[in-house]
Amino acid sequence: MLSPILLVAAALAYAPQGGPAVPDSVFPPGGEVMRLFTDCDEARWPFGTEERFVPKTTGELDSAVARLRALEASWRRYFTARAGDSIAATPKAAWRYPIAQRGRLLNNFNNPRVDGPHEALDVFVQREGVAVRAPAAGVVIAAGDGWRGGWERRGRGLYHEGGGLSRRAGNAAILFDPESGGYFLFSHMQEGIGVRTGDVVAAGAAVGRIGHTGNASRPGAGRHLHIAYKEPGTACGVPGVLVPVNPYRWFRLAREREFPLVPTRAAGRRTAARP
Ligand SMILES: [Zn+2]
Repeated sequence: MLSPILLVAAALAYAPQGGPAVPDSVFPPGGEVMRLFTDCDEARWPFGTEERFVPKTTGELDSAVARLRALEASWRRYFTARAGDSIAATPKAAWRYPIAQRGRLLNNFNNPRVDGPHEALDVFVQREGVAVRAPAAGVVIAAGDGWRGGWERRGRGLYHEGGGLSRRAGNAAILFDPESGGYFLFSHMQEGIGVRTGDVVAAGAAVGRIGHTGNASRPGAGRHLHIAYKEPGTACGVPGVLVPVNPYRWFRLAREREFPLVPTRAAGRRTAARP
């Protein structure tokens, strides 16, 4: 528990627009946050556009863990100072559903991909533009917009001309949840995601809209939100790195609470209730 004096000091240090600027040390550049967010391997793009996953050294992993814990301490202070009485931290059982309609939530956390298991969930919708929402209150620690790139069926595969949070994520944001100590990555959103690094958001607040940027620009990808959730754990023998955790049970709980299926009179079919 922070003392009132510390809280006031923190509030002064992180005053909103017009006040002192947020120090860079609290929010490193998006590229560094993405490197900290990945666990044992790091995505690199040494040859043209083909992605390579390069294992991090033990030294790199150890220093990343120390850096993360220090940043988390400052993000918690930042959250406490900005959230005030209006934004409460969110226990997992009260997590909100990550999109503004029922959609189709897949439990595809363990599905194999070319480079390993998916380790995230996808929520599909009919049409893009559906609001993406923060499951829990937190601090936006990285946000990238203006993704320019695409997919070519032959030849280069995914190409990238800049913008966004990363080539694969496209227009994306990472939210740190001070309650669980976990992180949400929202990927493939439309341009104009609407949140910036340093934003403090409540559970259920919009952080963007479903789009098809990054890896989801490929033909046939379908309109979906790719959402990854990570918590500190042990991976490649190093305690404290961020490891993917399947958030399906919490999202399913939220879905049934917010968008329950109701029986229709006609054939006893169950359809999504209109909220
Ligand atoms: Zn996905």
